[in-house]
Amino acid sequence: METRRTKSGPFDGKVTRFFTSLVLPVDKTRTGECDRCGACCEFFVKCPFLKRDESGLPRCGAYVFRPPQCRKYPRSAAEQIHHPCGYRFDKGHE
Ligand code: SF4
Repeated sequence: METRRTKSGPFDGKVTRFFTSLVLPVDKTRTGECDRCGACCEFFVKCPFLKRDESGLPRCGAYVFRPPQCRKYPRSAAEQIHHPCGYRFDKGHE
């Protein structure tokens, strides 16, 4: 399945997400789970820690040590730029 990316500013909002992930929590309305499409690991600059398992699915080579912007993505609906993504936000409670 192809993942679409919606632009949300310079560098697709990557700089914003870096700083907000340091100080803001994940939105409480977030549900779902990562589908392991790998799209958020490949945009702008492909992460050097992105690996593939035996079945070809993406996996993080630094999962335990991954930084907040990876750990929290997508932190909020406004910062979610990949669709489809396994995570969703309940718009009724934002
Ligand atoms: S968080 Fe979303 S975009 Fe990133 S790998 Fe998981 S399903 Fe794909």
